[in-house]
This record gives sequence, C-alpha cells and structure tokens, in this order.
Amino acid sequence: MAEFDVDLFVIGGGSGGVRAARIAAGYGAKVMVAEEYRMGGTCVIRGCVPKKLFVIGSHVHDEIEDAAGFGWSIGQVSFDWATLVANKDKEIARLEGAYTSNVEKSGARIAKTRAVLEDAHTIRLATGEKVTAKYILIATGGAPNHGPIVPGIEHVISSNEAFHLKELPKRIVIQGGGYIALEFAGIFAGFGSDVTVIYRGDNILRGFDEDVRKHVRAEMEKRGITIITGCTVAKIDKHGRDFTTHLSSGSSIASDQVMFAIGRHPNVANLGLETAGVAINPANGGIQVDGWSKTSVDNIYAVGDVTHRTNLTPVAIREGHAFADTVFGKRPVEVDHATIPTAVFSQPEVGTVGLTEEEARAQFSHVDIYKTDFRPIKATMSGRDTRVLMKLVVDGASDRVLGCHIVGDGAAEITQAVAIAVKMKATKADFDATIALHPTASEELVTMRTPTARHVRQAAE
Ligand code: FAD
Ligand code: NDP
Repeated sequence: MAEFDVDLFVIGGGSGGVRAARIAAGYGAKVMVAEEYRMGGTCVIRGCVPKKLFVIGSHVHDEIEDAAGFGWSIGQVSFDWATLVANKDKEIARLEGAYTSNVEKSGARIAKTRAVLEDAHTIRLATGEKVTAKYILIATGGAPNHGPIVPGIEHVISSNEAFHLKELPKRIVIQGGGYIALEFAGIFAGFGSDVTVIYRGDNILRGFDEDVRKHVRAEMEKRGITIITGCTVAKIDKHGRDFTTHLSSGSSIASDQVMFAIGRHPNVANLGLETAGVAINPANGGIQVDGWSKTSVDNIYAVGDVTHRTNLTPVAIREGHAFADTVFGKRPVEVDHATIPTAVFSQPEVGTVGLTEEEARAQFSHVDIYKTDFRPIKATMSGRDTRVLMKLVVDGASDRVLGCHIVGDGAAEITQAVAIAVKMKATKADFDATIALHPTASEELVTMRTPTARHVRQAAE
C-alpha cells in the first residue's frame, strides 16, 4: 500500500497552483488540487483577464472621440454596463471551464472545497475528508487589504466587487496610487464616470521611474481624472445611495461608490501553517521560501502571491512550473526574479522593464539617459492632447541597457518584446544597430542617438 494518498496536494487552483499540478501530473505524479472558490484563481476570475476586458471596453471611448479627425461622423452612441458585465462573466465562465478541464485532462483530481494543513503531510478538506500527501504546494494567492479601519469602511468596495457592480457609478472615489487604483480609474473614466483618485504620497506609482510617474499623472489629468495627493480617506458617510468621503485634508467628495485599492496581503490566515511548522517571512508577511520555493518544512513548498515576492501571474506560473520540475522532474530549477517586465494598464498604459533611473544611479557610477516625449502620429489628426514617453536607462561604462520605460498606447506590448533584449543584456549599440520599423512609436527606442542626461558619480577622495 502507498505510504501517502497522493504524491502532491496543491492548495489553490490559481495561476501558480494549476501550472504546478499539470506539470507534476505530466511527470507521472498522483496529484490533487483543492480550490475553494473558482478554478483559475485571481487572474482569471477577478484580476488580469476581466480587468483587461474592461480596459479594452473603456478605451473604445477614445476611439470614438478620435474618429472625427479622420473623417468619421459617429452618431449618438450609448454604453450599457450590464451588457459589458454579462459578456465578461460569460467569458470568465468559459475560461474557468477550460482551466478545470485542462487540470482534469492532465490526470490531477480537483476538490472544489477549502483545504487546510493538519500536519506536514495531512490536508483536511472542508468536506471533512483527510488526504495525506508526500509533497504539499501552498498556492493560495492573496486578497485585497481593507485597512486602515476608518468610520464607514463597510461601504467601501475592492476590485473584487468592482467587477460585479449592478450599475456604472456616475462618480467614484478610488483610494490608492498603484496598479489597481490607476487601472480602475482609467476604466471608470473611459466609461464616463467622474473619477477622483486619492493618494497618500506626493505622486502616484511609487517605485516606478520618476519621469513615468509625472507623465502618467499628467496624462490621466488631461483625461479628466482628478488626482488628489498627500491625503487619505478619513471617513465615509452614507446618505441613501450616495456617499460623502471625508479626506484627512479636511475636504470632502460626494460619490456613488468608494473603492480602496491599497495593496493586497498573502492568504496565510487559518491555513494551519503553525501546526505544520511553516514559517512566515517577517519582512513581508508571506510564506518564507528559498530559491526553489521550499518552505521551512522540507516537503512543503509555496508559490505565487502567497509568498509575496513579485505578485504577477507570469511569476506565479513560472514558480509553479519550476517547483514541479525541481520536485517531480528531477531537474532543479531556480526562478530568476531579476528584470521582470510589468505593465500598468492605466490609460495611457505604462510598460517597464529593468532599472529606473533612480535605481541605476544608485547602483552604477555612470548612467546615460535617453529620453523622448512626443505627440503620437494618431494625435496629429485626432487632435487629442496626448504625448508618449520613451526612456532608456543605460550603463555608461558597459553600454548595457539597464531599463526601458514607456507610457503610451501599446506600451505593454512593446515592453514584452524589449524585455527580451534587456534580459539578454543588450547594449545601446545593439539597439542602435537595429534598423527602425517606420512609422511606429517604438522606433524611437532605436533612433535616440544622443543622451538627454549623463550622470557620472565622482569616486570618493
Ligand atoms: P491566485 O491566482 O490568487 O490563486 C489562489 C487560489 O487559491 C484562489 O483561487 C483561491 O480561491 C484559492 N484558495 C485560497 N485559499 C484556499 C484554501 N485554503 N483552500 C482552497 N483554495 C484556496 N497580474 C499580472 O501579471 N497582470 C495583470 O494584469 C494583473 N492584473 C490584476 C488585476 C487585479 C484586479 C488583481 C487583483 C490582480 C492582478 N494581477 C495581475 C495579479 C495576479 O492576479 C496574481 O499575481 C496571480 O493571480 C497570483 O497567482 P496565484 O496562483 O499565486 O494566486
Ligand atoms: P499596489 O501595491 O500596486 O498599490 C497600493 C497603493 O495603495 C499604493 O499607492 C500605496 O501607497 C497605497 N496604500 C497602501 N496602504 C495604504 C493605506 N494604508 N492607506 C492609503 N493608501 C495606501 O497594490 P494594488 O492593490 O494596486 O495591487 C496589488 C498588486 O497586484 C500589485 O502590486 C501587483 O503586484 C498586482 N497587480 C498587477 C497588475 C498588473 O500587472 N497590471 C494589475 C493589478 C494588480 P504607497 O505607494 O505610498 O505605499
């Protein structure tokens, strides 16, 4: 009789868990996956995918406005939020089905229930069933932060609810200056809502390149989004269907919805981690893991947002795959977390890979900046008041391109391709040797010849 019921038990059927389960099953492991909500996880059900569908839908507004300059006259247009939500739900249900059947086709068994650790080799399901496993993978993801607890916090929605609102809010207040706040600000504004973003610091997108932060803010403001910095939401009052949001600055804003997008925390609570001996990383509250995603317990691994390393879908997938290769494929794979491209699907989009100017200047003694800020060709006829930003950060000593930062339509698509070159340690000379593809916005990346700034750190005497 086998020592354990299964070779691998995966807790969480999201990006990381599903990839790990399928690859491990492919190596011949007997695998079981528990999912307490919907197969596919955050990205598919209430993250990347529905978000991108909403972004695409709201961007149609710009297309309609821009059409006139090209000779189109578009009559009365109208937008129906309920149709958008229903069609999005249909697509998400289709994807959920695809995720479920792909896992089942791989040979893994799915338990549609919550699972927690009873000890290092035993999992207890909410159904009462107990399963023993040789290896356990924790891939429980994360959830929106609600705090700080201010009066009226019960009226506040997170991104989870934003995907299922019954009506498009005419006015919405969004607290936060990161990915989710800015993406939803663009979504609601595109559909016609009056949007106010409240951010506690001096400018949105902390951690991004300073030029990107300034550029995105200016462009969002041009699109009519109000961005109030240097304050927080202190209290929310509800009167009938309306809300009044009181700010720490003393002013207040009336709206139909109030949303917080103030970060996410790893799903580690009530999982039985203590009983199994799985340690938490005190620095970030996620499960502590080594380079191979192994926890403090030898047979228990953790991947994705629950480890709070880089909370992006492709990273969770890569970590899940590497775990399966390492443990079941007899091919130890350590995930390289350096130079991960990322995009904020704000409107306009941000695409970024590698070091910001500030990071490069802290690490390298000689940094050259190549930067351009121009009116895209479409705007010359549409008349839209918008500019694109492209910036390369280069190590002046080795000529290596350390970072690339883009704000403008298509930034995410361009950045995915540029990321290959940056990851391959391409030099500025390699970029320059590439003949431009004309007429595109991204040709600027291979035609910027003269540095716009050169930073040389003097050696200490
Ligand atoms: P998840 O996908 O969160 O999966 C965890 C699963 O575990 C969930 O399905 C959950 O129900 C289940 N679970 C939890 N506890 C238990 C339990 N005890 N028992 C059983 N099941 C359990 N990333 C990008 O790269 N690009 C984007 O554009 C992007 N957009 C985003 C937009 C939004 C609004 C949000 C919220 C996130 C976005 N992300 C994006 C981040 C991305 O969704 C996550 O990084 C990714 O989903 C992490 O995958 P995961 O496998 O770690 O966790
Ligand atoms: P982010 O970390 O991106 O942004 C959180 C924002 O909330 C920051 O502006 C932060 O300010 C602010 N904040 C944090 N705590 C408070 C507080 N107590 N009061 C007021 N403001 C506060 O988190 P998100 O929630 O936007 O998204 C979570 C993660 O999901 C992202 O970091 C990313 O990893 C992933 N994601 C990825 C997307 C993509 O790839 N396109 C899209 C959406 C999510 P400060 O900067 O000052 O700390």
